[in-house]
Amino acid sequence: MRGKLVVGNWKMNGGLAANSALLSELIAGWKPLPSRQIAVCVPYPYLAQAAAALGASPIAWGAQDVSEHASGAYTGEVSAGMLVEFGCRYAIVGHSERRQYYGDTDAGVAAKAVAALAAGLTPIACVGETLAERDAGATMAVVLRQLQAVLAAVGANAAKLVVAYEPVWAIGTGRTASPEEAQAVHAGLRARLAQDGAADVALLYGGSVKADNAKALFAMADIDGGLIGGAALKATEFLAIARA
Ligand code: PEP
Repeated sequence: MRGKLVVGNWKMNGGLAANSALLSELIAGWKPLPSRQIAVCVPYPYLAQAAAALGASPIAWGAQDVSEHASGAYTGEVSAGMLVEFGCRYAIVGHSERRQYYGDTDAGVAAKAVAALAAGLTPIACVGETLAERDAGATMAVVLRQLQAVLAAVGANAAKLVVAYEPVWAIGTGRTASPEEAQAVHAGLRARLAQDGAADVALLYGGSVKADNAKALFAMADIDGGLIGGAALKATEFLAIARA
């Protein structure tokens, strides 16, 4: 459902003591409003810590990936049902780092989105082009192909997705898409979502979002919030982005 949403992706960062401090600062500093939400997607071992710390707060939590399988002989994998037991609301699927380093394919990402939805989680489905693909003028073709795989798999559940546009060249590089560049892609994604009755899906932008560029990005018509990596590890920065 459309509303303002800012999600922190901690990636493979953190530790019990550092997490405790960060989560406490987020709880103390976040003033909720019905139309705006924040969440943190933490490494699997810290889900219990997030649940304990955030359970009585308006801040949601989630995982950074999920298995496409419900259970069984899949060593190293974590199922959506397990995430639900830890109170997760979200699971990121198809982050470009998973696609790049762990071989996640469009079909695999789509299967993960289906598994998440089946367990009652909201998948945050990531799409985004590499710099070479952008330079070749293939941005929309790439992101629509990635989105299409998920839409075809989830069928009538499309409206339950969150979609994040994250240009690969902007992730962790300090280089961000301009608000206009991001908006152009978001408008195309929303038009495609509308064809499946999912025009109201929350569409997040991710890629080197910081407190000083968040306001301009989030002011664009089709940008409903952000998926935040590095800046999500500092409470003051993350909260400033969320307030933007
Ligand atoms: C991300 O990992 O999803 C991300 C957007 O990272 P960063 O904000 O550090 O570019």
